[in-house]
Amino acid sequence: MRRSDIPDGAEHINLADISHKQNGTPIIELGTFGGASDPVFNCVWSSSGPSNVKAFSWRLLLHRLPTKVNLGRRQILLSQTDPVCKLCAGEEEAASHLFCSCLFAWEVWSCCYCWFGLLTVLPIKPREHLLRFKFGWNKDQISGSYTVWSAVVWSIWLMQNECVFRNREPDMNSVLELIKWRSWLWIKYKWRGFASSFFEWYSSPLLCLASS
Ligand SMILES: [Zn+2]
Repeated sequence: MRRSDIPDGAEHINLADISHKQNGTPIIELGTFGGASDPVFNCVWSSSGPSNVKAFSWRLLLHRLPTKVNLGRRQILLSQTDPVCKLCAGEEEAASHLFCSCLFAWEVWSCCYCWFGLLTVLPIKPREHLLRFKFGWNKDQISGSYTVWSAVVWSIWLMQNECVFRNREPDMNSVLELIKWRSWLWIKYKWRGFASSFFEWYSSPLLCLASS
């Protein structure tokens, strides 16, 4: 198990990472992104992932991840660095590409919807992806689906890092297995009423959410 997968149980997030201050005034007021009651705020914080994954998701939604396109804009990326996405080698690595329109990501999302027994038209922006990824009949169950969403974007990001920094080939099966493992682990750690085994979760996540 990676250290980053271990739930820390903390409800409070270190906001320093995502809300930079200038002269003591936060540049971004958490919870006001896109409006005073932006629904994506609750989606992110109601998920059961570790705090570092929640912070990561929030940075993704704020377009603040260090993707090659973002680093290039900030003139951090060396000019000789290839800006193309390592997962598909088709387009520049912007967040909306890496997590949505990339062929690799598109396949991951399709497989995850299939895992839930669902078919849908996939959105092309992370925000719409999150708002749509909502399965369940009560608050806890819906937060379970947001946990799966977090596991998807986190697992895609880690695979991208492996490809960029360790020269690894993109591995779809590995990403899909880790999404199932991480989401089960995070939900099991946070929910007292969640008694499903990993095998049950692996076979039928929607049933597990419904019976918890
Ligand atoms: Zn790509």
